[in-house]
Amino acid sequence: MVIAGGGPTGMMLAGELALAGIDVVIVERRASQDVDGSPAGGLHSRTIEVLDQRGIADRFLAAGQAMQVQGFAGIPLDISDFPTRHHYGLALWQSHFEPVLADWVGELGVPILRGRKVVGFAQDETGVDVEVSGDTSLRAEYLVGCDGGRSLIRQAAGIEFAGLDPSTSTLIAEVQMDDEPELGMRPEGGGIGPVNREGDGGPFRVVLTEQEVEHSSEPTLQDLREALIVAYGTDFGLRSASWISRFTDMARQAVSYRRDRVLLAGDAAHVHPPQGGQGLNTGVQDAVNLGWKLAQVVNKTSPESLLDTYHAERHPVGARVLHNTMAQVALSRPDDRHQALRDTMTELLSLDEPRRRIAAMLSGLDIHYDLGEGHPLLGRRMPDLDLHTADGPTRVFTLLHDARPVLLNLGAPGSFDISPWMNRVRLVHARHDGVWELPVLGQIAAPPAVVVRPDGHVAWAGDLTDPELPRTLGTWFGAATPASRCERDRPNWVPAS
Ligand SMILES: Cc1cc2nc3c(=O)[nH]c(=O)nc-3n(C[C@H](O)[C@H](O)[C@H](O)COP(=O)(O)OP(=O)(O)OC[C@H]3O[C@@H](n4cnc5c(N)ncnc54)[C@H](O)[C@@H]3O)c2cc1C
Repeated sequence: MVIAGGGPTGMMLAGELALAGIDVVIVERRASQDVDGSPAGGLHSRTIEVLDQRGIADRFLAAGQAMQVQGFAGIPLDISDFPTRHHYGLALWQSHFEPVLADWVGELGVPILRGRKVVGFAQDETGVDVEVSGDTSLRAEYLVGCDGGRSLIRQAAGIEFAGLDPSTSTLIAEVQMDDEPELGMRPEGGGIGPVNREGDGGPFRVVLTEQEVEHSSEPTLQDLREALIVAYGTDFGLRSASWISRFTDMARQAVSYRRDRVLLAGDAAHVHPPQGGQGLNTGVQDAVNLGWKLAQVVNKTSPESLLDTYHAERHPVGARVLHNTMAQVALSRPDDRHQALRDTMTELLSLDEPRRRIAAMLSGLDIHYDLGEGHPLLGRRMPDLDLHTADGPTRVFTLLHDARPVLLNLGAPGSFDISPWMNRVRLVHARHDGVWELPVLGQIAAPPAVVVRPDGHVAWAGDLTDPELPRTLGTWFGAATPASRCERDRPNWVPAS
């Protein structure tokens, strides 16, 4: 397997594939994990949960600052009453996030071709020939484009990137200034703030709307100086910039996340304005949805059609992110009419129900894959319940550390025969004494048993005698196979206490 691009999405995907024992290599244009600029400022609750499902959330929590980071067009949204262990976001610059993720991927032994670019590919019925700069060619079963918004993979695959052209352009930079700048937000959006969240001294992060939308070259210190003078009447003695970057409110999404043996994830599949801080989070979650499916197809556990569920599940999630960022951009327009609209939204979002709904969307906690009618858990994230097993106390997320599916039986010990899925699905008998609560929905009826996919979403909820259960296991984790005697004798379950 070849992954083009070792940013947040590519790294996460590589980790997921490595956990599943898949031979994977990342081709990354950058010579190191240093991030040119530090666009993303943090993680949302669901991303922290996803990392917790792999047992690595603590590494990120130690590197950042847990706080209420959420906002809709800058209107703060508190999630401290949400039913999750991580009822907060994590302030953590992308330049600090990426090295921690890369360390994990390194521990899993994934090779990275650094300072190399994917320059083209040709696919046939059995695989993809991936052309890499430096006259190298790699043969892979699948190629995943995690190569950012300007994705070469997407373009070479001929996948349309449908959506809106930019209507605004914004400079973002980390700068040193001789004079004390005017800190705080500008009425037209952006502003100046300290880079170090604890202090108000330099260096400073400057975010400024530009006069022109179209640009043919990379932004310069002179562009920034001019934008400062337009906004503030002075450049505050702008001395230097450790990096300068530019973003727009362009909102585009790949019409298909897959073309045969080529798939797209992260910014390669969707770009949108940064309002709400959702890009990196959505990419990491794309990777966690795709990883186990791709692994099962490669190791022949599942048919290729399993990959179609990646587009079916993640394209609507990406579309919703584009939609809400477009709304946030509209709300942030600096004229009086939009300010009136913002005031109205602020009032609405101070009410519990609207706050819960919008905050659950931004945090990713309300994501609901359409897996049909049934128990409210179906298609939603499995809550991280405290469990009692015969081996002692544990948590649901701990059971997902190895990225394998779990059949969790919380009712009376049943007689379900897991052996046809032996070595693929782990049966765990456990007890949970507390209530079941989901974000937005509130308390739900406790199901007697659930099937939790490796990405933490519930594929089935019901009684062990339900005839749907074997069908669900077959659909998601491959056909039942006759178990050999020695497999039957090997325990693949954890008993309840
Ligand atoms: C101002 C700003 C603020 C933001 N704030 C947030 C935020 O708070 N929260 C949030 O979640 N998101 C935020 N984002 C978005 C976030 O930065 C992106 O969504 C995220 O970086 C996407 O990750 P990715 O891995 O998909 O793509 P990228 O980060 O773009 O990584 C792509 C990688 O592919 C490599 N590459 C490209 N082409 C090739 C090639 N041909 N061959 C090999 N390698 C290649 C690149 O070097 C790069 O490492 C913000 C963005 C901006 C601009």
